[in-house]
Amino acid sequence: MSEHREETITPQDEKRRMTAAEVQERRDEGFRRMAEELRNPMTRVQRRCISCGMVVEFEVPEEGFKEWKAGELIQNAMPEVGEDERELLISGICGQCFDRMR
Ligand SMILES: [Zn+2]
Repeated sequence: MSEHREETITPQDEKRRMTAAEVQERRDEGFRRMAEELRNPMTRVQRRCISCGMVVEFEVPEEGFKEWKAGELIQNAMPEVGEDERELLISGICGQCFDRMR
């Protein structure tokens, strides 16, 4: 054993340390997302599919949403929004119904 802290490191401790690293990684990821969110605040939108009536709620970037409403192409304004959600915004048809129509 090369590393002794307060007690002998057991495989269990080793596992716990790995988990701590993972927790740290996840926390970093959370911070990155938070920073991203601050730069690019999201807004929640709700749409009811005109075909099946399912209500879909999702988040879109506030800025991009505004740009799209002002006339920008949706794929340019909100590239981070999924295809299904974009379809629902454009045509009012959810991804499932859209797939059925294809
Ligand atoms: Zn639908």
